[in-house]
Amino acid sequence: MNYDVVIQDGFKSYCVKKLRTAIASMVEKSGGWPEGTSKGNRVLLKVNMLAAKHPSRAITTHPSVVAAVVSLLQERGCEVAIGDSPGGAVKGVERYWKNCGFKTVAEITGAELVSFEGSGSEKVKMHGREYDIALPILRGYDCKINMCKFKTHMYTRLTNALKNSFGIVPGLGKALLHMRSPRPVDLAVNIVDLHEIADNSLHISDGILCMDGRGPSTDGRRRHEGFLAIARNGLFMDMVLSEMAGLPWNQLDSSAEAFSRGLGKPFDQITVHGSHKFVDFDIPERSYLNHIPRWLGSVARMILRTAPVSNDLCTGCRVCQKACPVDAIQIKNGRAKMKKGTCIMCLCCHELCPENAVELRLPFGRR
Ligand code: SF4
Ligand code: SF4
Repeated sequence: MNYDVVIQDGFKSYCVKKLRTAIASMVEKSGGWPEGTSKGNRVLLKVNMLAAKHPSRAITTHPSVVAAVVSLLQERGCEVAIGDSPGGAVKGVERYWKNCGFKTVAEITGAELVSFEGSGSEKVKMHGREYDIALPILRGYDCKINMCKFKTHMYTRLTNALKNSFGIVPGLGKALLHMRSPRPVDLAVNIVDLHEIADNSLHISDGILCMDGRGPSTDGRRRHEGFLAIARNGLFMDMVLSEMAGLPWNQLDSSAEAFSRGLGKPFDQITVHGSHKFVDFDIPERSYLNHIPRWLGSVARMILRTAPVSNDLCTGCRVCQKACPVDAIQIKNGRAKMKKGTCIMCLCCHELCPENAVELRLPFGRR
């Protein structure tokens, strides 16, 4: 029998040998390797490379899981590439590859690292909305595999298979989408559009080192959960993992949106092999921004416009100022000041600050 979602629990570490064996068996249970993964095919692994941080921080897809998948695909005779577009990559993606461990994976396995920023992009329409999409997503590969990270998200509550497609928009386009869609319910529409454009054939979720609380980056709490999940349909995987983590699947805006488009099937009809028990997994509450009426439109965007702020830990070192792509940061009285009118919420300053002095605030001062 082929299962819609396959979960294997009990991983104590990221041992590549054990991961290889487990993933091979899980893929078999999910229906086998998808089309486009035979000898001579080119396969793109779309990882989560949100921040240029060490994999032990549980922010990005662990390189050992990626290495295991690369080696299984190479064994089948495929050429494999690894790519993503992190928010701060406008000033170079190399440090992301290095810090996240993907450079080492490429050196050891011979897989190619693909820069979504440097590969060009093309406008794509989905349901009447237009997106700028990195070219490697649109052509050049016989199969795309989504290699996501399971964690919480302050804004969307959880991030896993569907949300990982946000990274197919290169450069600052992601920040502009966030600005255009201040309510999570609106962002969910964009997320599902991008998920449909990405058209991944397989989804592999790294839930060994997870994150809860104020995810998806440095403010979240690292947790060892010890599971991997695999599915042909990303919505099925998100629905099942969301329920297991304690969030009814239809309270995750992206899952509800995808389901309303007919991309899934009723929850009780999804077949699952294996499970994982979450204990006290802390999922952020539903954002109050969802209660602002859609018709407020551009007025809401003006009211809701926000920017990070520096706190008392700021030393005025100027690291954030040098990184800001739109020159929205000034150092005044030895402390960074972000200009709300100029900031595009790319979050480079939040990620790069060596003192953890940059805080994200929602409008009206809420953290
Ligand atoms: S990088 Fe951090 S510590 Fe340095 S100026 Fe910016 S906010 Fe302050
Ligand atoms: S102030 Fe920070 S979040 Fe805003 S654009 Fe500059 S680096 Fe990005």
